[in-house]
Amino acid sequence: MSTLRGKLYIVATPLGHLDDMSFRAIKTLQSVDFIAAEDTRHSAKLLTHYQISTPMISLHDYNEQERHEKIITLIQSGHSVALISDAGTPLISDPGYRLVHAAKKLAIDAIPIPGPCAAIAALSVSGLPTDCFIFEGFLSAKSSARLAQLNVLKHETRTMIFYESPHRILACLDDMQTIFGQDREVVVARELTKFFETIYSDSVENILKKLRQNPSEQQGEFVVLVKGAVIEARVMDEETTRVLNCLLAELPIKQAVKLTAEISKKSKNLLYDLALILQKAPK
Ligand code: SAM
Repeated sequence: MSTLRGKLYIVATPLGHLDDMSFRAIKTLQSVDFIAAEDTRHSAKLLTHYQISTPMISLHDYNEQERHEKIITLIQSGHSVALISDAGTPLISDPGYRLVHAAKKLAIDAIPIPGPCAAIAALSVSGLPTDCFIFEGFLSAKSSARLAQLNVLKHETRTMIFYESPHRILACLDDMQTIFGQDREVVVARELTKFFETIYSDSVENILKKLRQNPSEQQGEFVVLVKGAVIEARVMDEETTRVLNCLLAELPIKQAVKLTAEISKKSKNLLYDLALILQKAPK
């Protein structure tokens, strides 16, 4: 039994570049009793590269409940288990949530061994605001559901981060254009840390054009980041925004919009959108 007794380690692994494996991740995977892997055949390559011979437990071999019970039983009997996914940080659009939830309920320590995560890597080079952001993971595969999800985010003021697959990247950007407008600033981070790494920063309309012109660049793994809606408030002149803000502080939104429209002669619809943004914006 290893020295790391009775604990569950959540270990991040590279997104594509093997050098991104941390020393602590290697040491932990070498020292634990078992490695629970999303796909053992996939992870075998990484473990071989780092001469890690720790036995693996496949997360695919049992049904979810059984495999969690097996891992929890191993930990409760004093063994240590590390959870890894195919790439990046486990639980981030990857399996592991239920296991960690179950472990915490049984007072088993879950120890993070942090490292690569596509969302954070993309955000760090996006040039978009990083003080406040939301991670939405994968949007629905169906356009109608995706449009509905995006519509909920129409007035979101924080930077939005999405994961997307190559066969839906164009459809997803198309839907973003429909909901957020063609001028909304978007960053598409493709194949991060890999040979074909590409980062596009432009309006959603221009990024769509570029990707359509280069079918080879529609291949690979994608993170899509969308600038928050707060910037759109600036299309309204400062005085109108100030009036609306003052009225919103005192009145219900509909009345504030109606009065501002009368004062400024601006479109009620635009003012309503702006009011929603202002209500969400940090004061
Ligand atoms: N757990 C992973 C993480 O920490 O980022 C994410 C796993 S999720 C199943 C896979 C998705 O993450 C891909 O479809 C893509 O959206 C994103 N992703 C993973 N690796 C990437 C990379 N090298 N470049 C861009 N996006 C990547």
